[in-house]
Amino acid sequence: MSVQDMIKKSAFPLFTCPGCTDGIVLNAFLRAFEKLDYDRSNTVLCCAIGCAGRTPTLLDFNVLRVTHGRALAFATGVKLAKPDTKVVVFMGDGDSLAIGGNHFIHACRRNIDLTAITFRNEIYGMTGGQYAPTTPLEGIATTSPYGMIEPSFDGCKLAAGSGATYVARGDVYNVTNLEKVIEGALNHKGFSFVEALTTCPTQFGRRNKVADPVKMIHRIKDMTIPIEKARTMNEEELEGKFPIGVFVDKTAVDLNTRFDNLLVRVQRQA
Ligand code: SF4
Ligand code: MG
Repeated sequence: MSVQDMIKKSAFPLFTCPGCTDGIVLNAFLRAFEKLDYDRSNTVLCCAIGCAGRTPTLLDFNVLRVTHGRALAFATGVKLAKPDTKVVVFMGDGDSLAIGGNHFIHACRRNIDLTAITFRNEIYGMTGGQYAPTTPLEGIATTSPYGMIEPSFDGCKLAAGSGATYVARGDVYNVTNLEKVIEGALNHKGFSFVEALTTCPTQFGRRNKVADPVKMIHRIKDMTIPIEKARTMNEEELEGKFPIGVFVDKTAVDLNTRFDNLLVRVQRQA
């Protein structure tokens, strides 16, 4: 099935602001999904609140839209109840790393077999332009009008440290890499995480003097660096840079397999 056929006719006109790049992440997912020839009828997309959380509603898929920060919790339930279902979770950065932060680290730890994609646009978009755990130091948001005083989170380091078995980063400038890492995530057995650097010209750009959507994409280009090159650089040189590529890709027993083994063991004892 082609990418066009996977988009709802009723998706237009799009809800996103002009210049928003969330659609680039969604398109990268669709292209990877098409390439892997997965079956939509056996796939569930989970999402919650916010612009990133709303993007799956544009697609002609089974979509489960839930409360803010809880998409991974619901997705875990879907995967345990229907182990053969492909489950993909779309989240914003505030959604996944702040409101849903606990769900995030425990989904990584459990190695539940699903793919989580975080749209990192450095702010809460739809819900009011508040600072997120990804807002850079001194970044302006509605809740940090004089500049952010907290250091930001690295979603990939958090996922890797919490036990995710596939961890990668892509961005909306280097689209080929973004498609590749999402394909790798979809293909992975176990918890796979992709942090996708994207832009919010409306809530972040306008307040941080990069309202021009094209300049915002160039800013992403300047911030990113291939992982191979990053490995040759020291901490000082890497300050403010986001390596892109695959950080973790390893095999480990997933939660469904552990659950099945448990059932066999308990039934034997009965
Ligand atoms: Fe995109 Fe930001 Fe507009 Fe949301 S508020 S649609 S993230 S530009
Ligand atoms: Mg956001």
